[in-house]
Amino acid sequence: MSPFLIENQLFQIDYTILILVFSLGTIAGSFSHAFADGIIHGRKILRRSECNHCKKTILWAHLIPIFSYIYLKGKCSHCNKKIHFEILIFEVYFACLYVVFFLYLDLWYFLKFALISIFLAVIFETDRKKLFIDLKCLIMILIISIVFNTWPYINYKIFLDKLLLFSFGWLLIFIISYLYFLFKGIQGFGSGDKWLLGIISTIFTYQDVIYIFLSSCIIGSLIGIITLIYNKSIANLKLPFGSFLCFVSTIYPIL
Ligand SMILES: [Zn+2]
Repeated sequence: MSPFLIENQLFQIDYTILILVFSLGTIAGSFSHAFADGIIHGRKILRRSECNHCKKTILWAHLIPIFSYIYLKGKCSHCNKKIHFEILIFEVYFACLYVVFFLYLDLWYFLKFALISIFLAVIFETDRKKLFIDLKCLIMILIISIVFNTWPYINYKIFLDKLLLFSFGWLLIFIISYLYFLFKGIQGFGSGDKWLLGIISTIFTYQDVIYIFLSSCIIGSLIGIITLIYNKSIANLKLPFGSFLCFVSTIYPIL
């Protein structure tokens, strides 16, 4: 339970802090979406927000997460073109995620997963849209994972533990992909997936990694089957396995 809960009673939550956490979540969601959008469209990560259609800079007052979307009725104030609905989904999803993290995790884990989830969501989005896993995000997740596990005392044994966990996740996908290649003649996973699971593994335990991997496989299979039912013409279906890994890893701490 979060140390911020007064006497650990859910009905005695300090709602001011909860509203703050909710707001923080909306900002994180907005940032995460802008980060992914920047990678997908080859723009600078730190930039003034602009409309994807008319390219005009969005006013500061129109950058308030959730409220701005509702106030502007999901349209750009300059050209009146629709703003992507997924921006609102990101903001609402992160707000809810942060609140649940805050209620179920202690402060240290809350901070760790609040930060990691931003970069997992970026990879979720880039892999979903472009089948691309960004190296910057992988490095950020690794840094956060190591800092939160070693802080405030540097223990070199932890580095070895993390290296073994990384190898475990990396090899898990590498071996399955290699076997798949031997039998089918094609790669079963994307080249970035083994690096992603390797990095994700440093956040969790060996058992967690297996659960996350298997859950992602089940989600992937279900989505694959549904896609093929509705689109029988697809000959070589490529699914964003990295997105499934990121989604499961984000919600795993609260399951
Ligand atoms: Zn516009």
